Amino acid sequence: MNIILLAPPAAGKGTQSSKIVSFYHLKHISTGDLLRNCLKKNDDLATSLREVMNAGKLVSDEIILKLIENELVDSDYEGVVLDGFPRNLTQAKKYEELLNKLNQTLDLVLYLDTEKEVLEKRIVGRRTCSSCGKIYNVMIEEEKPKVEELCDNCNISLTHREDDNSETFTKRFETYMKETEPLIQFYENKGILKRIDASLSTEEVFNLIRKEMDLLK
Ligand code: ADP
Repeated sequence: MNIILLAPPAAGKGTQSSKIVSFYHLKHISTGDLLRNCLKKNDDLATSLREVMNAGKLVSDEIILKLIENELVDSDYEGVVLDGFPRNLTQAKKYEELLNKLNQTLDLVLYLDTEKEVLEKRIVGRRTCSSCGKIYNVMIEEEKPKVEELCDNCNISLTHREDDNSETFTKRFETYMKETEPLIQFYENKGILKRIDASLSTEEVFNLIRKEMDLLK
């Protein structure tokens, strides 16, 4: 089972991917997380990646495709939830080629549909645990950690992503509209895109996703 989560920045791809993979026992591949891991090394690659990401632009297709290929080829899995990939038409077409090579198919593209104003609010309150990756939102009652700014699982301080500020968000959103939004039509034409109202609560969004996923079985 191969699934893509397609959405503007901060629509909840990461949160919903985590829920999907634990419920359906699939592998989660987040290009954003893979890139943020590369940033931790503090080498030349990290410096150039940081510059691109903080400018709200897309990292080169070459780097992204290498990351994805490693993840798809090297592991033992029953299915994958792609979070943050593909993000433009070149990546989408390359992914098709890769799946063909691996004798696999793409089953579903979930488009998390939300208004820009909702996204902007979510970005400001978003916090992440750098150890387990759990995502919180300090501005939304049901998504706050139990103890202020501490991870419920790991009890360590939550971090605020460098690119989660209104200036970078505006640029990320523009990049999304220009590069990624055309993928909605691309996958709609293939008949595998399902639109999910992502302005609802985390649980309500997940219930809508489950309905679509259960139709695949
Ligand atoms: P968002 O919440 O904005 O969707 P992500 O964690 O998915 O954030 O990505 C953060 C940044 O990493 C993006 O703004 C972009 O610079 C880079 N990035 C992530 N995935 C890709 C990709 N598939 N292609 C190019 N750049 C990517």
